[in-house]
Amino acid sequence: GGVMEEFTGKLLVQQEPDASSFPNGGIRNTFEARGYSAWDPSSPAFIVDDTLCIPTIFIAYTGESLDYKAPLLKALRAVDKAAVDVCHYFNPEVKKVVAYLGWEQEYFLVDEGLYAARPDLLMTGRTLMGHDSAKNQQLEDHYFGAIPSRVAAFMKELEIEALKLGIPVKTRHNEVAPNQFELAPVFEECNLAVDHNMLIMALMRKVARNHGFRVLLHEKPFKGVNGSGKHNNWSLGTDTGILLHAPGKLPEENLRFITFVVNTLMAVYRHNGLLKASISSATNAHRLGANEAPPAIISSFLGKQLSQVLEHIEESTKDDLVSLSGKQGMKLDIPQIPELMIDNTDRNRTSPFAFTGNRFEFRAVGSEANCASAMIALHSALAAQLTEF
Ligand code: ADP
Ligand code: MG
Repeated sequence: GGVMEEFTGKLLVQQEPDASSFPNGGIRNTFEARGYSAWDPSSPAFIVDDTLCIPTIFIAYTGESLDYKAPLLKALRAVDKAAVDVCHYFNPEVKKVVAYLGWEQEYFLVDEGLYAARPDLLMTGRTLMGHDSAKNQQLEDHYFGAIPSRVAAFMKELEIEALKLGIPVKTRHNEVAPNQFELAPVFEECNLAVDHNMLIMALMRKVARNHGFRVLLHEKPFKGVNGSGKHNNWSLGTDTGILLHAPGKLPEENLRFITFVVNTLMAVYRHNGLLKASISSATNAHRLGANEAPPAIISSFLGKQLSQVLEHIEESTKDDLVSLSGKQGMKLDIPQIPELMIDNTDRNRTSPFAFTGNRFEFRAVGSEANCASAMIALHSALAAQLTEF
């Protein structure tokens, strides 16, 4: 036997939780309690244990947003509208522009016994006393080392549980610091990717306990070794299948690509303070600029090829179209290894907002942050810029 509960469509669409009990920075008074949650059908409902969870926005009776999702959806809608208009210069058939986000979640694992012995770690998420361990990052031997079997067991369970929730996890690897690791899914539409990141952080904490670990999402748990971030790989695409931040095959397509790159750069240039604010937190401040990448200012790195193209356009007096070369072959003279395809630009590991071939990578986002904060600022800035353009 079992219990059948009734769940009507009306309950799904709208609910009324107490808006004054929610941390709201003083937007609401305690005697003004009404707030509404409304279903976000663009992010699938999911089940945790025996509870049906429904992604919603949360607004006050007076209309202010009390969450991150409502402003994010508004910002995404604003970019959609502005970017479609810009697309029409090149592709009149475009009806919708979507933003994609692929996050890379960095984290530390600590044995729960050792964790319990450290009140500083327990209470603040980072160590405040003690000395450096004898074997730190000096040999830079962790990144390419083998994943310890106990950690691999944790990763495997985490991935299985993530896939059950529809999170398309793909990559796992060691990070540069001892006991530091990374997990990344395949990129998704921005709103969904943000929800999935929130879910996976909760899942990590839960699954770690099954393996005698505690997971540390703090941006700088240990002085003297690298901290953790959450690279936000980001791009725009159309409903007709064009990736707007990727170079095309034809010079006409490259003009569109350059248009979106230049507008993105302008948005970042004009609203760098807002972008900085969107990733700022007390914990992230321990990481940014503290002898490790990225620095505490917002700047952008484009790579050699794209920089040359932009300089050429700036200097050129003619109306010449842009041509960009794609990946090139590199022969190694080892007969059994096929020709390697080399990217047209090397990696820059330190830039807070780097172009990486077909997307930008916002690298200053903190490991314990809600990606929505950075995505709200970026999309608002870009919507304003594209509208002006
Ligand atoms: P890295 O080399 O930076 O460590 P990873 O493979 O770990 O790269 O992560 C790259 C992330 O970027 C993945 O989530 C991937 O799906 C995502 N990604 C790839 N292409 C795009 C794109 N065009 N827009 C947004 N995200 C993308
Ligand atoms: Mg990266």
